[in-house]
Amino acid sequence: MTLHQRIGQGIDFHRLEEGRELWLGGVHIASSKGCVAHSDGDALIHAICDALLGAAGMNDIGAHFPDTSDEYKGIDSKILLKRTVKMVTEKGYRIVNIDSTVCLETPKLAPHISAMRTTMANIAEILPDAISVKATTTEKMGFTGRGEGVVAMAVCLIADRIPDNI
Ligand code: MG
Repeated sequence: MTLHQRIGQGIDFHRLEEGRELWLGGVHIASSKGCVAHSDGDALIHAICDALLGAAGMNDIGAHFPDTSDEYKGIDSKILLKRTVKMVTEKGYRIVNIDSTVCLETPKLAPHISAMRTTMANIAEILPDAISVKATTTEKMGFTGRGEGVVAMAVCLIADRIPDNI
């Protein structure tokens, strides 16, 4: 049987503001600033959802979960990830792996990476090994460097079955 594989990418940006909660990868992170968003502003989950939807040729997160809808006001992005994985799975695909990077000046994300991977892997029903999260500052350059915003990027591979060599 021919293995049918598809690649996807996603990117998300959110402004940061004092006094808001910071959620990334489904994990609450202690920070004086959090994301301004219609949902909980979890840029990492949003980028991963867009990568999965893109790989499956299923448009983007804004089309499925519009930020004009009251249904999604303040929504926990873990619910969006769960629904996205369900849509992609129902189209006949399995997640082979996801790789992602968050650009944030502060706080340091290293202590939270493991929890993010476990949290998102449980939702996506994949092994934590199949979902990579990396973090970087932008060396104080640009809007991320000034602490004005966060950027998350993700790529994923999906397939109609998991390849034998993985
Ligand atoms: Mg977003």
